[in-house]
Amino acid sequence: MARRRQLYEGKAKVLFEGPEPGTLVQYFKDDATAGNGAKSGIITGKGVLNNRISEYLMLKLHDINIPTHFIRRLNMREQLIREVEIIPLEVVVRNVAAGSLSKRLGIPEGTRLPRTIIEYYYKNDALNDPMVSEEHIAAFNWAAPQDMDDINQLALRTNDFLMGMFTAVGITLVDFKLEFGRIWEGEEMRILLADEISPDNCRLWDSKTNEKMDKDRFRRDMGRVEEAYQEVAKRLGILPESGNGDLKGPEAVQ
Ligand code: UDP
Repeated sequence: MARRRQLYEGKAKVLFEGPEPGTLVQYFKDDATAGNGAKSGIITGKGVLNNRISEYLMLKLHDINIPTHFIRRLNMREQLIREVEIIPLEVVVRNVAAGSLSKRLGIPEGTRLPRTIIEYYYKNDALNDPMVSEEHIAAFNWAAPQDMDDINQLALRTNDFLMGMFTAVGITLVDFKLEFGRIWEGEEMRILLADEISPDNCRLWDSKTNEKMDKDRFRRDMGRVEEAYQEVAKRLGILPESGNGDLKGPEAVQ
């Protein structure tokens, strides 16, 4: 079979042309980077796990009427998604202080935040994804204020749902990063949740021990990275206790 045309290669994923107009194939690589590419490596099996974890979480979000780009998983490393126009923002939702928030504001990692905080970063590798405010977003027309209302609401609903889901399996959802995209249906524009939700872009800590179960293990050279991703999948009930070999078949949204 002829290989599909590659449209984009990012740090952790590749996008190919989809089988029908308006669709893309999202391929999950094992490559990992941190610090905007300053550190790079391979986490064996990461792509397979993230494909499966992201599928599972996007389907659960779809069930509570959060619109996502996910259509269905195609195989171990690929999923079919809707083609969207990506809004050039990384939307970070935080429940517990960690990472750049702790560093910038001197709040010790692990401090529960008095309320959920949403931050925005302008997606631009050359500028190191600088933090921006809704004022910048409106002024430079990256998203309209009405779009930001939708994005904020979707981000908070996603947080509430994921927090509950992870709490139920003994995991604290410390923070995570979302990306959103636009699709047009005739005259109507809709905002969808895009990209992926996985231990690559969430901070997940064991609720009892606070042990890290996410990409910080790679960023901070803590070892046992793949095992941590596997444990997240096991706790969500995606991976059988025995390991990686017996993944459930794909489920379709539509
Ligand atoms: N994050 C991400 N991609 C980025 C930056 C951050 O997925 O380019 C995620 C990260 O995994 C964490 C959350 O966003 O779950 C908040 O990250 P933070 O701002 O603390 O960034 P750090 O400098 O620690 O990566």
